[in-house]
Amino acid sequence: MSISEKQTIKCPACGEISDLTVWQSITVSDSPDIKADLLKGKVNMFSCGACGQKALFPAPVLYTDDEKKLVISFSPQSIKDERVRIFEEIKKSSEKSEELKNYPDYNLRFVTSYNEFLEKILIFDNGFNDKVIEVIKLLVLAQDSTKMGQRTCIFGKSDEKEIEFLVQDTKENQVYTSRVPLSTYETIKKQLKESGVKFKSFNWEMVDGDYAASLLRGANNTL
Ligand SMILES: [Zn+2]
Repeated sequence: MSISEKQTIKCPACGEISDLTVWQSITVSDSPDIKADLLKGKVNMFSCGACGQKALFPAPVLYTDDEKKLVISFSPQSIKDERVRIFEEIKKSSEKSEELKNYPDYNLRFVTSYNEFLEKILIFDNGFNDKVIEVIKLLVLAQDSTKMGQRTCIFGKSDEKEIEFLVQDTKENQVYTSRVPLSTYETIKKQLKESGVKFKSFNWEMVDGDYAASLLRGANNTL
């Protein structure tokens, strides 16, 4: 079930008061229109009618897509230590409530940035698993290892032959595209499976660059 509430917000820039519908829970089967708004970056995004100031309303969102067996817990947070603390808290409370029993064979993801949240949805919508995609992102960045520190890689789109990634270079102020054949995805998925990676979750998981790096370290013999 999708759940929202109205919030009255004072614009941080000009002080104008306006209303915002804040979504706490989005269930795709009930609310395809809310999902469409989310992918446009409109959900929980405050936009001032007077001065145009935009800001994310810092509310957690639970996103459930039963068809894709995907549940994402989004808790906006940019401080790394806080991220880990909230992650541990959510895992603990889920264990206590035993709510995860409702999600057998699901992928359960914990994310803390809006962009990561939208990227996860896109990855699963395109029929991929993010564990494989995060490894490929790392391999794309490693192609130019001297610039890894100044670049980020995100999933772009896919067609029947290739997956397109967007590589943003903050120093050069450029965005590059990098195309990876689908066969690479299948090969890496097979290797990860063989090395013991599960493509379903037994608890909430943070699947990001650090996760992929630890997989690559552990799977050194096969990749
Ligand atoms: Zn304003």
